[in-house]
Amino acid sequence: MKFVFLGTTGYHPNNRRQTLSVMFPDNGFILDAGTGLFRAREFVSTDQLHVFLSHVHLDHCIGLTFLFDVVNGKQMRQTQVYVEGEKQTVLEEHLFHPLLFPAMPPIDFIPMKIGPNAIKVPDQMDVHTFPLSHPGGSVGCIVQQDGKRIAYVTDTTAGLDEPYLEQIAGVDLLIHECYFPDGFEEQAAITGHSCATSVAQVARQCGVGELLLVHVNPLDETDDPIGLESLREIFSNVRIAEDLMEVEI
Ligand SMILES: [Zn+2]
Ligand SMILES: [Zn+2]
Repeated sequence: MKFVFLGTTGYHPNNRRQTLSVMFPDNGFILDAGTGLFRAREFVSTDQLHVFLSHVHLDHCIGLTFLFDVVNGKQMRQTQVYVEGEKQTVLEEHLFHPLLFPAMPPIDFIPMKIGPNAIKVPDQMDVHTFPLSHPGGSVGCIVQQDGKRIAYVTDTTAGLDEPYLEQIAGVDLLIHECYFPDGFEEQAAITGHSCATSVAQVARQCGVGELLLVHVNPLDETDDPIGLESLREIFSNVRIAEDLMEVEI
């Protein structure tokens, strides 16, 4: 499986990072539509796009308004956007309200199922979804292909008692949000985000192969907004994802 990070921060873009979006170009599959989605244009190589929305907080859905340009001049047959329940209506009535955005991009919304085989992506890629706790709710997923499994967990508060841990046990790669370094536990709980140590503990407890951190605090544009050194004492195989980083497993 090959993928590229189109954006790696949360809340708002900064000079180094766009908000979260991850693309599997060979499959036309995209996790979240943050501001980084404008970069999908240079990676489009299929005639269909399948966009998974973890939830519709603006930093994860604003990129849907860029779709006209993403597919401009491409032979695009269809763009499917998978979104949970009433959140589709929220997008249609608010994000795409004519006073906010002048025209509806060519999107087919599909209700997101929770559980196995939630999304069928071309080339035997299978997506299994599960709920995450976050204000308004969020959805995580496991992307599986050729016997490899990648877990995508963003916008939630990591903790060893969280039900999602059983879903991600033993995955080859865990993409997990880590908005805060340690010391911001109270703020993390209020906003539904994660601090460094608890994410590392989750990775260790679940026996994942590798941990890639995303949705890092946009106020810190340095190489290490997380405090990797102390995190590595708990789980050593960890990196912070960077925009346009390409990964193959
Ligand atoms: Zn977010
Ligand atoms: Zn959120």
